[in-house]
Amino acid sequence: MIGNFDESALLSLFVGKVGEIRKWTLEPFALDEYVYATDCFIMIRIKKEILNKEYPHKYNPIISFPSIPSLSICYEINEIGKLLKSITKERVIVTEEEEELCEECNGSGRVTYEYVDLKGIPYEVEENCPICEGDGFLYKEKEIETDEFDYPQYCPVKVYGGFLNAYYVEVLQKAMSILGIDTITLCEDLPNMSLFRLNENIHVAVAKLFMDSEAYYELKEKTKV
Ligand SMILES: [Zn+2]
Repeated sequence: MIGNFDESALLSLFVGKVGEIRKWTLEPFALDEYVYATDCFIMIRIKKEILNKEYPHKYNPIISFPSIPSLSICYEINEIGKLLKSITKERVIVTEEEEELCEECNGSGRVTYEYVDLKGIPYEVEENCPICEGDGFLYKEKEIETDEFDYPQYCPVKVYGGFLNAYYVEVLQKAMSILGIDTITLCEDLPNMSLFRLNENIHVAVAKLFMDSEAYYELKEKTKV
């Protein structure tokens, strides 16, 4: 093993999730001397030479990772773990479309109209049901409570000069566990993303959350000794 870590487990943390419409994000890909995996909000870049597997070569738009880091701020896995534990997770609710028989037309999609002319003669016309538009069914969104709990959708964690989504802070934590490292270094704090160095061969860029919320969690940097 070249890198001495589970590269499939690591890369799978960063690829697009099932149902993602940007199909090119569903698997890691190679470009020049690196392998990338991204869901368009977080991206990992790994030096190809430390990986065992081959990855398809693609030419997708890539975040450019600055070559000379401007910052060196360390965060410890214990501190990240403590912060994530302090966040109350919410029950995951999914919406499903439910089909309901149209009571107006009893599912046939057709209804009868009557018109009475000036002489009092009635006329009957069959037309599409105006309630279900001829479908015979009505479609309603139903919210279903699952047994899963997750961070609130936009849960801001302040990391140095910006806010990151708690979900992606957890991805960083999981990546650190897979690599067996205790600290990561924030090496660039750009207006739209934060760039972390996991080790000399592995970097991660995380898109910032744009928040004006006053309620947020704050990740403490490693205190200097
Ligand atoms: Zn109907």
